[in-house]
Amino acid sequence: MRNTKAIKKVSLKALCFIFVILFVNHQTQAKEKDTINFEAKDGLIVTADLFAPHPNETPFIILFHQAQWSRGEYIEIAPKLNKMGFNCMAVDLRSGGNVNDITNETNQRAIKLGKPTDYLDALQDMESAVKYVKSKYESSKIILWGSSYSASLVIKLAEDNPALIDGVLAFSPGDYFDRSKTYIKDSAKNIKCPIFITSALKEEKAWEKIFHAIPSKHKHSFLPKTQGNHGSRALWEKFHDSKDYWQAVSKFLHQYFGEKNNNKNDVQVKGKAIIDKETPEPNWPHPRSDEYIEQRCQMVRHIRGNYGLKDEKVLKAMEDVPRHWFVPEKSAPLAYADRPLPIGYNQTISQPFIVAYMTNQLKLDKNQKVLEIGTGSGYQAAVLTEFTPHVYTIEILEPLARATAKRLRELGYTTVKTRIGDGYKGWPEYQPFDAIIVTAAPDHIPDDLLQQLAPGGRMVLPVGGTFATQELLLITKDAKGRITQKNLMPVRFVPMVPGNSK
Ligand code: SAH
Repeated sequence: MRNTKAIKKVSLKALCFIFVILFVNHQTQAKEKDTINFEAKDGLIVTADLFAPHPNETPFIILFHQAQWSRGEYIEIAPKLNKMGFNCMAVDLRSGGNVNDITNETNQRAIKLGKPTDYLDALQDMESAVKYVKSKYESSKIILWGSSYSASLVIKLAEDNPALIDGVLAFSPGDYFDRSKTYIKDSAKNIKCPIFITSALKEEKAWEKIFHAIPSKHKHSFLPKTQGNHGSRALWEKFHDSKDYWQAVSKFLHQYFGEKNNNKNDVQVKGKAIIDKETPEPNWPHPRSDEYIEQRCQMVRHIRGNYGLKDEKVLKAMEDVPRHWFVPEKSAPLAYADRPLPIGYNQTISQPFIVAYMTNQLKLDKNQKVLEIGTGSGYQAAVLTEFTPHVYTIEILEPLARATAKRLRELGYTTVKTRIGDGYKGWPEYQPFDAIIVTAAPDHIPDDLLQQLAPGGRMVLPVGGTFATQELLLITKDAKGRITQKNLMPVRFVPMVPGNSK
């Protein structure tokens, strides 16, 4: 008897518990989205689902569907973007139909009113969506996301509104329109913001010219190794390769929009649930380029093969950082040869092997602070940024320092701290440094730098007179502050010019 009572009690409790869970679940789901309306230029009412649980200034993604479909293309995508820390809105465009049991309200209204519903007619709906978001979320960055025909139109929209649009994701764009076979390619020529293009494996031909035309250094593309899918549906869970698309999308969004996101922790923690656990995303910018990939890989094969440098993280950094961005434009084709190159002002960018070798000596990780003396082109600083967001770099030649600081900023290396000044003094305000790398040769080890090296820290520097042989040294400071020195190899660097403080 007692037992049955106990069981009854327990099952009653369990029922209440399930009820509470269902109720809470239902509540949160009900709050997940709001259906809203706004007006297009010609007066047509446009419907959209708003998924905006984050504060107003959070980056905002506007989602547009593919041909014949509705905002229903995003029913499982939008909540995932919310979990990654973004606000978003999925819009019904007048050119479309139904998908996932969601009726395209805008299309229905357009038909009732006898309005044309061709692809290009939808451009005004997209414009009104941007206007709506700008008016309600004034201080947030706006990211456009299109699928198939609307993937093409987001490129056009970004061209027309460079001041309003901060990023573009295009799933299977193409020059699909009768108006002109280069309509989108011509728009692409004016895209300056970060842009990501992807498609099914076999669709590359449809967008490669568009991609090529984009001058932005922040352009990225992804093609699946599998067959993939057309448009944003490539991200639907039912497709086994959707994870690969998600990983590429997460990487792009975090690279350009993760940093300034107010819910930064959310982005990192929850984002990982979607992307592969084995490859956690770095949470500071790592700019990339698809140009000269083959040459970059060849350079890395050379460093590995000829010099026997085997550290995979260093090799990966060399493979990922676009060295051609850091040399004068006319030298770009030579950027991946294993040689130093002139960068103007009588200075040179070091030979790739030396950059890799010196970086390897520092044994950096993401919590460490590193000081570079001799910013030069900024390339070494960019390589250091692959390992840590705490990079400080000093350059003594003012015009070079200014030009490079601007370049680093424009390329997206927003974490690098630059300073015009005399490297002999180090950077006392930010000491101690876990690592110091000197890329010009002093004739002695500068005292201030030794002092600014943290216990357990490592410093690599070439020492020797201008015309004498220079020796690359590794200086280590142990936990008790004791210094040891190791000669690594003979080298040739430009001299470190004495400031007032030598
Ligand atoms: N690390 C650079 C290459 C540097 S070449 C790169 O990746 O491109 C050496 C640089 O050190 C030159 O730009 C030179 O102007 C700078 N330099 C020379 N003496 C210096 C000093 N005392 N303080 C800071 N920078 C100095």
